Amino acid sequence: MAKRDYYEVLGVDRNASVEEIKKAYRKLALQYHPDRNPGDKTAEEKFKEIAEAYEVLSDPQKRAAYDQMGHAAFDPRARAAGAGAGWSGGFHDPFEIFREVFGAAGGSIFDEFFGGGGRSDPLAPERGDDLRYDLELDFEEAVHGCEKEITITKPERCEACRGLGREPGSRTRTCDTCRGRGQVFTSRGIFSIAQTCPHCQGAGVVVERPCRACRGTGRRERTSRIKLRIPPGVDTGARLRSAGNGEAGWRGGPPGDLYVVVHVRPHEIFHRDGDDLLCEVPISFVQAALGGEIEVPTLNGKATIKIPPGTQSGTVFRLKGKGVPSVQGLGRGDLHVRVVVEVPTKLTAAQRAKLEEFAALCSGQETPGIQRFIEKAKRFFR
Ligand SMILES: [Zn+2]
Ligand SMILES: [Zn+2]
Repeated sequence: MAKRDYYEVLGVDRNASVEEIKKAYRKLALQYHPDRNPGDKTAEEKFKEIAEAYEVLSDPQKRAAYDQMGHAAFDPRARAAGAGAGWSGGFHDPFEIFREVFGAAGGSIFDEFFGGGGRSDPLAPERGDDLRYDLELDFEEAVHGCEKEITITKPERCEACRGLGREPGSRTRTCDTCRGRGQVFTSRGIFSIAQTCPHCQGAGVVVERPCRACRGTGRRERTSRIKLRIPPGVDTGARLRSAGNGEAGWRGGPPGDLYVVVHVRPHEIFHRDGDDLLCEVPISFVQAALGGEIEVPTLNGKATIKIPPGTQSGTVFRLKGKGVPSVQGLGRGDLHVRVVVEVPTKLTAAQRAKLEEFAALCSGQETPGIQRFIEKAKRFFR
């Protein structure tokens, strides 16, 4: 039987672009795929014919040879007779070509038409997973920012195969077990049960020689050190993304990202409230009554606060800009100093005498808070 013209087979013009050829192939391949035409020998022949035409016309070199010499370009006998450059070794498996074309689109078209049920191509490159690393920081490291080196063990790109999962020069070939269908059928009485091919995991093709170092995954477990730059102002719960430092991709796919989740250890003096800092400073009741200067700690050394005479316990003094730098770079928070009056618990006889003298001087002159309370509580005392 004479071979039909490849352009005619695909129904495209001799000047058709690669895109047009691909489009024509897609349409026809779906129409004549044996899974859609069970037992139809004509459809199967047609499917093979389409694949062959596509294989030649989609490859610029083969297409040029075909344009020049016609089918003779691929006929070993014609080549032996000195017809010039051609191709030997026959054509690829039509199912493999089908998978190449549709697999590139994500396999969804195949599933849509033939009910593959969300099967993904086990040979396709795939992005590596993201990783999470929990990092504990000292309060001051978090506030000022720092550099940290962490050690993690994770799948890295296999160096032997540069992540591709196959030995150099190794190609894919049609899976023998399922003959490229990706499925195998077992008979159970009158039923025929389809299962994903265990040999190729449904890909329909297998790698001839998978990389020995990584068993074809393109990844190997390794421990590596990663330098992290922690920006100033991070707080517990902050998630820092370290792009590309996640797990290596599968079979040459891109790596995932590393997410560093920050946990800040509590500080013995400072508490954080967003970008503000809180700090409690005890003062004596004499300081509170007489007023004066007290020294308070800040993140950058000490500062002095003036306490006015008659300062009550719990009064908060604000030190502007002495808080934490905003992680977004929007200035700094404040430091809030809360003074707490501490009452002496042990008095010497002399101190006691002075205080009693003081109390006698105060008799009948209650402080405003006490006066207000006495007014309100009066009726309870009757
Ligand atoms: Zn298989
Ligand atoms: Zn490898």
